Amino acid sequence: MTVTTLTAAAALAFSAKLPAGSDPSFETYFTQALSYSAAEPHRAMAMFELLLVPERTQISVDLSDLPEEVRGRFKLGFERAFSLWDRALGDDFPFDLRFGERHGATLEARVVDRIDGDYHQMGELFVTRRVSWSKRSHRAELTGTMKISRFSRPGRLLTVDEVTHIVAHELGHAFGLGDAEGVREIMGPVLIGRPFARLTADEVRRVRAIRESIREEYREAQASAG
Ligand SMILES: [Zn+2]
Repeated sequence: MTVTTLTAAAALAFSAKLPAGSDPSFETYFTQALSYSAAEPHRAMAMFELLLVPERTQISVDLSDLPEEVRGRFKLGFERAFSLWDRALGDDFPFDLRFGERHGATLEARVVDRIDGDYHQMGELFVTRRVSWSKRSHRAELTGTMKISRFSRPGRLLTVDEVTHIVAHELGHAFGLGDAEGVREIMGPVLIGRPFARLTADEVRRVRAIRESIREEYREAQASAG
C-alpha cells in the first residue's frame, strides 16, 4: 500500500508538462530539471533559470563578414525579429541585442554563406547550458551560437522579411517552441519569397504558458531548497 502511494506521488510530481508543440529538446531538459527538484533543488533551479534565459542575456551579431552594402538588411531583419518578441513579451523579454561587440557576449550570431552546405536550412541555434550547484547555491551559464544563412539559393540574398522570419523562428526555439507545419506561423517553414514575419497570438500564448510553467516549478524547487 505504501509503495503504491509513493509511486503515485512520484508520478504526479513528474507529470508537469509544457504546452503541446513545445520544442522536444527543451522539454527533455525541463523534465530532467523536474526530476532533480526534490533531491537537488539548487541543481533544478539553475536548470530552470537557463530555460527562462537569464535576464539581459546579450546576443551579439557580427556582420563583418558581409559586404557593406548588404549589412543593413540583415541588421534590420535582426532588429525586427527581436522587436516582435520584445513587444509580445514586454517585461519578460530577456535578450539584449547588440551589433559588432563580440567580447563578453553570451550568444554570438553570425550570417554565414550556408548552413551545413544546405540551402534549405536557413537558421540554426545552438545553446550550451552549464550548471553547478551545491546544497546551498547554484550557478547557471548560458552560451551559444545563432547562424543565419546569407542566401536562399546560390546568388539570391535573403530579404529583410525572410531574415526577420528566420531570426524570430530561432528565438521561438530559445523560448521553447517546436517546429510547426503551418506556413502562417513563425515556427512554420520559411517559404522563400513568402516569409511570415509575424508572431501568431497562439505562439505568444504558448511561450507565456511555457514560461509560467517553468516559474511554477522554479518556486517548487526553491521551496524544497528551504
Ligand atoms: Zn526550427
